Amino acid sequence: MATPMFRFDPVELPPEAQTLRMEVREFIKEHEHLMGFSKGEFNRDFSRAMGKKGWIGMTWPKQYGGHERSAFERYVIIEEMLVAGAPLSAHYTGDRQSGPSILRYGTEEQKQTFVPKLAAGELTFCIGMSEPNSGSDLAGTRTRAVKVDGGYKINGSKLWTSGAHRADYAIMFCKMAQEGQQDVDRHAGGTQFLLDLKAPGIDIRPVINLLGEHHFNEIFLTDVFVPDNRLLGKEGNGWNQVTGELAFERSAPDRFLVLFQMLREMIRMAGPNPDKATAAALGKLISQLGTLRNMSVSIAGMLQEGENPNNEAAVVKDLGTRYEQDIPVVARQLFQTEPELEAADLYASMIARSTMNAPRFSIQGGTREILRGIIARGLGLR
Ligand SMILES: Cc1cc2nc3c(=O)[nH]c(=O)nc-3n(C[C@H](O)[C@H](O)[C@H](O)COP(=O)(O)OP(=O)(O)OC[C@H]3O[C@@H](n4cnc5c(N)ncnc54)[C@H](O)[C@@H]3O)c2cc1C
Repeated sequence: MATPMFRFDPVELPPEAQTLRMEVREFIKEHEHLMGFSKGEFNRDFSRAMGKKGWIGMTWPKQYGGHERSAFERYVIIEEMLVAGAPLSAHYTGDRQSGPSILRYGTEEQKQTFVPKLAAGELTFCIGMSEPNSGSDLAGTRTRAVKVDGGYKINGSKLWTSGAHRADYAIMFCKMAQEGQQDVDRHAGGTQFLLDLKAPGIDIRPVINLLGEHHFNEIFLTDVFVPDNRLLGKEGNGWNQVTGELAFERSAPDRFLVLFQMLREMIRMAGPNPDKATAAALGKLISQLGTLRNMSVSIAGMLQEGENPNNEAAVVKDLGTRYEQDIPVVARQLFQTEPELEAADLYASMIARSTMNAPRFSIQGGTREILRGIIARGLGLR
C-alpha cells in the first residue's frame, strides 16, 4: 500500500486573478474608512457592496446567483480583504461554508431560496455546532430533534455561536431523539437544520470575550419548530455533512492573515536599517508567511480541481494559527511598548488586541490537538 502523503503542489495564480487583485485594491481604497485592524466588523452594507461586485459565492453556479469563477479568484478576494482588515463578518460564514453546504446537500427549493441571497450579501448565517461539554467532541451533541407533524421540534442549547445575535439563520447540528435507546454509534442520528433565528422558542444571550466585546453567544432552544423543508440533507447523515462543512471552514487563508497589519506595522517601525536581531526576527515571520501562503494557494489549486484537501487544510490551519500566535510575542520582544487596548499609540493597542485575540486562533474551527489528530489520521498513523 502506498504511504499516505500530503500534497502541496506549487501553484501560480493565473493572470485573471492578478487583474482582479488590482480591482479589489481600488474597491478597498474607496471603502478605506471601513477598514480596521483585526476586528472583523459586521457591516451589511459592505457585504451588499461586495455582493454587487460579484465577490461572494464566486465559485457557485450562476443558476443560483453565483459567478462560476475560479478558486484562485476567490482566493485573491479573501486575501486582499483580510490584509486590509475589511468588515467581512456579515457574509463570511455564508460564503465560506453555509452556501457550499446548501449547494451540496440542499433541496432545489433551499438552493433557490438561500443561495442567491447569500451571494448578494443579503443573508447572514452562523454555525450552531458547539455546546457546553461538546466542542471538540461534536459527536456528543445533546441538542435533540424530534419528528412531529409537518416538521421537527428542537430542544437544547449551543455555545460560542459567533455572530448569532446578528445572523438570520444558523445551520444547527442536532441529534434525532431516540426514545429509550442509548446511542451505540456516537455519530448516528446527527442531523442538520436551516434554522430561522427569529423562530419562537429561541433565546440568544451574549457571551462577552476577553476583549470585552460581544462576538459569540449561547443559544437556548425550547420546543423550537422547524418545518420539514428546512431539514438540510438527510436525517441521520448530519455527521458526514458537518465534517464536510468543517473542511470548508479550515481551508481559507483567514487562518494566518488576521494579524497581517501588525506585521506591516512591525516592519515600518524597524525602518530601512534594522539591527541584526530585528532583521532576523522579522525575516523569519515574513518567510513563514510566504510558505503558508504557498501552501494555501496550493489548497486553492486542489479546490479548483474538485479535490478534497481536508488533511492539507488541517496542516495549514495548525501551522497558520501557531504563526499568528507568535506575532504578538515577537512584537513585544522587538519594541518595548506597554500594551493598552484603548491607547492612542497604534502599536500599543495592536499588541494589546492581538495578545488578547491570540488564544482563539487555535481553538475556533477545531483545536490544535484535534487538528493534529486529523493530520495523524491523514498520515495513516492512527
Ligand atoms: C472565537 C471563537 C469562535 C467560535 N465560534 C463558534 C461558532 O460560531 N460556532 C460553533 O459551533 N462553535 C464556535 N466556537 C467553539 C469552538 O469550536 C470550540 O471552542 C472548540 O471546538 C473547542 O471546544 P470546547 O471549547 O468545548 O473545548 P474542549 O473540547 O473541552 O477542549 C478543551 C481542551 O481539551 C483538548 N481536547 C479535547 N478533546 C481532545 C482529544 N480527543 N484529544 C486531545 N485533546 C483534546 C482540546 O484540544 C482543548 O485544548 C468558537 C470558539 C472560539 C474561541
